Amino acid sequence: MAQYDYDLFVIGAGSGGVRAARTAAATGARVAIAEDRYLGGTCVNVGCVPKKLYSYAAHFHDAFEDSAGFGWTLPEAPRFDWATLRDNKIEEIKRLNGIYGRLLEGADVMLLNGRARITGPHSVEINGETIAAEKILVATGGWPWVPDIEGAEHAVDSNRVFDLESFPERFLVLGGGYIAVEFASIFNGLGSDAHLVYRGELFLRGFDREVREFTRDEMQKKGVNLHFETTIERIEPVGDAYRVSLTNGETLEVDVVLAATGRRPNLTGLGLDALDIELNPNGTIKVDECYQTSEPSILALGDVIGGPELTPVALAEAMHLVQHHYGDATPGPLDYQDIATAVFCHPNIGTVGLSEEEAREQCEAGVRIYRADFRPMKHTLSGSQERCLMKLVVDDATDRVVGAHMVGDDAGELIQGIAIAVRARLTKTDFDATVGIHPTSAEEFVTMRSLSRR
Ligand code: NDP
Repeated sequence: MAQYDYDLFVIGAGSGGVRAARTAAATGARVAIAEDRYLGGTCVNVGCVPKKLYSYAAHFHDAFEDSAGFGWTLPEAPRFDWATLRDNKIEEIKRLNGIYGRLLEGADVMLLNGRARITGPHSVEINGETIAAEKILVATGGWPWVPDIEGAEHAVDSNRVFDLESFPERFLVLGGGYIAVEFASIFNGLGSDAHLVYRGELFLRGFDREVREFTRDEMQKKGVNLHFETTIERIEPVGDAYRVSLTNGETLEVDVVLAATGRRPNLTGLGLDALDIELNPNGTIKVDECYQTSEPSILALGDVIGGPELTPVALAEAMHLVQHHYGDATPGPLDYQDIATAVFCHPNIGTVGLSEEEAREQCEAGVRIYRADFRPMKHTLSGSQERCLMKLVVDDATDRVVGAHMVGDDAGELIQGIAIAVRARLTKTDFDATVGIHPTSAEEFVTMRSLSRR
């Protein structure tokens, strides 16, 4: 009789947990997965997927306006119905939850609905039952964190913002990260009077400075009200709305306040403290390159270990973890360099590799910057003043393109391809030798011949 009920017990059926469970099971391991909320985790339920659907919805605003210059007349002024978008989104997510369930079933992974608690290096308790597993994988992700401001209980977090009862005519988001800029753009596009409040001098800290400035200007042009170098002092209800007092003395009255102030590892009640599992200084779980914690039979991956909080990173970690623990060959550590990312603010940001500022620090012989800032062809007839930024950061010593950045339509779609070139360590000469596709915006990336600055 087997010593353990399962070879692998996964806690958390989000992107990383499900991928690890399915791929481990495919090697012949006996796998169970516990989930107490929804299948697919943050990405499917309250993250990437619904956010992208809402971002599409918001883009129609511009599309309606842009169409006039191309000869279109709309029969009446377009009207937006929040309940239709929200409820269609709910149905789509139910469909995806079903797909996740069927994927697990098809992979012979036992799904247990309930909250699991680790009770020992090889034991887990769930729904009153104790289960023995050779290895336990913690893939419980993160949870929105809201700072302790007066009236914080009146703010919604990024889990709740998707399902608001009614449409906020006046919307305010606190924060300057991915979620803040994306939701400011979404609600602005859907028709809200949208405000973004950020404590620093410019949002998207860590991104290329020029990208941040360009995004600020474009978002402002689209009508988002940006309040920098201030934060929320107090939120007070006034009827169905809220009065928000800022530390700079300004007061705003809005219908919804979203706190997009970061996320924390979701570890409550997991039992890790009893086992003395080592944590990183920021509270995430410390793991080695095989995703093993300080207790070797307990593994962890995804947002809970504090790497880049991105679905494709959790998926890559899952594949790597399974290769390490259930594969024939031992892979090297996962390469976290040059991971491309997109921010779905309007216009979108796509970025891979080093920012200009990082390159200036790291490239000892200096850098060359090539940039193009132009009005896309579509807007010659649409009348829109939206502009597009493309930028290559080149290490002068090696001619290698170490960073590529874009702010403009479908930047994420475009940067994904460029990311292959950056990861493959291709040079500016390789970019220049590539024949462009005309007429596209993308061709700018292979036709930027004049040096913008050193
Ligand atoms: P981020 O960590 O990106 O941003 C948090 C923001 O909140 C920062 O601007 C931070 O300011 C600010 N902040 C933190 N504490 C306070 C405070 N006490 N008072 C006021 N402001 C505060 O978190 P998000 O919540 O936006 O997103 C979480 C993560 O999810 C992202 O980092 C990203 O990895 C992932 N994500 C990815 C998306 C994508 O791929 N498109 C989309 C959405 C999320 P400061 O900069 O000054 O520290």
